[in-house]
Amino acid sequence: MNAAAKTAKPSALTAAFISTLSHPRLSTPATEQDVQARLFALGFKDACGRCCGTGSYGPLSVLGGKCFKCNGRSYVGVRLTWDLLNRVRAEVSAEILNAYADRLIECKRAKALAAGAEKRVREGYSRTLFMQHFYGLDSNGGRNREAAPFSWLAYAIHANEKAPTEALTVCVVRLSRGECAADDVLAAEAAVVRARRVQDLAFSAAMSSGEIEADQRKVAEMKAAGASYDEEEAARRAAWKRADELLSLAGMALGE
Ligand SMILES: [Zn+2]
Repeated sequence: MNAAAKTAKPSALTAAFISTLSHPRLSTPATEQDVQARLFALGFKDACGRCCGTGSYGPLSVLGGKCFKCNGRSYVGVRLTWDLLNRVRAEVSAEILNAYADRLIECKRAKALAAGAEKRVREGYSRTLFMQHFYGLDSNGGRNREAAPFSWLAYAIHANEKAPTEALTVCVVRLSRGECAADDVLAAEAAVVRARRVQDLAFSAAMSSGEIEADQRKVAEMKAAGASYDEEEAARRAAWKRADELLSLAGMALGE
């Protein structure tokens, strides 16, 4: 195709594709590229000839070996032909385009829902007792005083939210690929909220018993005394073990 054809009105073939792929609930494709993008979304795509549909072709040092032609997607847009048009006309009914419009709306809704869940989890982070105590945050995330001295025990208790937070991130990525439902994201968010309730309870128990303060002192003393790696590692392990106990007690108290 020459440059003029791209800006001129679409060819008869492209125009025929445009009318076949138009639907009142969808934006109307205007160019050959738009047509290819819609066909791609509807599953009309060719395996990439450069990477034979593997998505990888090229030096690993460049973009991790991602194929330059299909951008690692394994597929490329189909070439528009009259044969393809006949196939598309036979397969893509108004009903299918309507279902596609539904799917786009569903995708938009899922994306908004995922963004909301991630935002709430991010905002909830500064409200954890750990962040307020160790980073001197107030409940809105502003800084109201100096951070407290380091404590292994406190960090070990805080680490209980790591796995559910990572699981939420994975879930959001899977949702964007249509591999899981919106409800899964909400369930993953609820798991983070639960973990933080357990964390807060374990943390406040360790604060009121004086264990956190004792641990802070111990860390400072070991540092001042130039403790060996093995000595530090033993203290760290003991803190993690105690954190596990405190977290499971807190979990039981909350009926988890
Ligand atoms: Zn490729």
